[in-house]
Amino acid sequence: MAISNKDLKKMAQAHLRDQGFYQGNIDGQWGKLSDRAFKRYRSHLRSQGLEIGGGAVFAEDATSQAVNGVVVLDPGHGGDERTGGSSANNAISASGVLEKTMTLDMAKRIRRHVNRMTGELPGSDVKVHLTRSGDTNLGLSDRAEVAENKDADLFLSIHFNGFNGVARGTETLILSAANGNVNEAEDRALAQRVQSAMVNAIRQFDPAARDRGVKNNQRLGVLNDISLGNVRGDAPTRACLVEIEFIDNPDVDKLLNTGPDARESKDAIASAIATALLDDLRAG
Ligand SMILES: [Zn+2]
Repeated sequence: MAISNKDLKKMAQAHLRDQGFYQGNIDGQWGKLSDRAFKRYRSHLRSQGLEIGGGAVFAEDATSQAVNGVVVLDPGHGGDERTGGSSANNAISASGVLEKTMTLDMAKRIRRHVNRMTGELPGSDVKVHLTRSGDTNLGLSDRAEVAENKDADLFLSIHFNGFNGVARGTETLILSAANGNVNEAEDRALAQRVQSAMVNAIRQFDPAARDRGVKNNQRLGVLNDISLGNVRGDAPTRACLVEIEFIDNPDVDKLLNTGPDARESKDAIASAIATALLDDLRAG
């Protein structure tokens, strides 16, 4: 059955959206996918041996392959009291939005995108669990233990940064091997996927996006291997912690909370992270 050009464009848009690009942003323009951009995208795919059409839509593309696994998302902070090393809140946006509210919102968006993507892929089964689903706090080791109890393949702790109102950028943290991480290489691979995805997504909305990279951290209680269950030797959980942006920076607050594209940008970040998580499950 022939696929219409219109449907091909729709698929291309969905494909780009899943990569963290704003819909139709192939040629750097906002708005609908143009014919020229679509042709350029198709020839780009062909240069990589990929084809979109004739019943083989993105057939060779990794993002169309079935994926299975368990993901635990950990929205940072919560509640009103410090608990087991976890503060109720840390950063506050320039307009007053609390980090703990933004982390929960982002976790739910990521879950939605993972479910949407896997729902479109026959044979896929990815379970997504949140360490908290409301405004409550959990201790750091309790958060990690959710990953152990659910036999998680991936554990992603979600945070937003705050500093001096000027600093900005995106970073992802992992525990170093020197601090007892039994699977640092796997954690780093996951962290790099998620980091690149976030930066690409933010850059679609704001050229001032800054890639602060993947960093080793000495004291990340939430990534502690013993709490994650990584001492059993079987199927260790890959884990990292994202600091998506500095929300006390007014430009970032506009990007994520108060600006006209705030919802779209948060969704693009969530979609990009979801894609990165699925890629890591496929690789793992
Ligand atoms: Zn935080």
